[in-house]
Amino acid sequence: MARYTGPSCKLCRREGTKLYLKGERCLSDKCALNRRTSAPGQHGAAKKKMTEYGMQLREKQKAKRYYGVLEKQFKNYYEKADNQDGIAGENLLRLLERRLDNVVFRMGLANSHKEARQLVLHGHFTLNGHKANIPSILVKVGDVVAVKETESTKIKELVEAMGEKIAPKWLELDKNAGVAKVIAMPERDDIDFEFNEQLIIELYSK
Ligand code: SF4
Repeated sequence: MARYTGPSCKLCRREGTKLYLKGERCLSDKCALNRRTSAPGQHGAAKKKMTEYGMQLREKQKAKRYYGVLEKQFKNYYEKADNQDGIAGENLLRLLERRLDNVVFRMGLANSHKEARQLVLHGHFTLNGHKANIPSILVKVGDVVAVKETESTKIKELVEAMGEKIAPKWLELDKNAGVAKVIAMPERDDIDFEFNEQLIIELYSK
């Protein structure tokens, strides 16, 4: 599937917030937002009053970029969320959180969603004992995501580093084995990134 391959920091500058797309660099002084906060482009520094539509659009772009999902797939998530019982915005975030690449990110095995996606694509994980190399697979309660036995030094180091990471409460981690069990559905307050999901729903419901 097509992916955005342009500069990641440009996306953060466009959204005016850190989207944590480059792993450890995002937490360091090297983060581009520490140096330049204006939006990219010739008129990026100009202060413009944002319209209601503009705010909705920016919020949708922010969520899409944070989770590394393209437009068509994101819209599919919205439609699915809208058809489910409950609050559509929360349903939408819950669906995005349940993606396999996000689970790998939440397990603390990757410093960004992009890195998590790469690890999944390269076949380093199993889901309920079976090979799982599709980042968009949605996990459900009872599923077990595990690092495949490997000789890869990098993966072994990642599993060792899991000990320092804190997982959300919907995942039960076995940090020595590199295993996560889904013990609940993610709740809104499990998501520590700032979203106004209602704006996204308003945008798509027009
Ligand atoms: Fe965004 Fe990370 Fe680049 Fe900072 S370093 S602008 S958080 S991608």
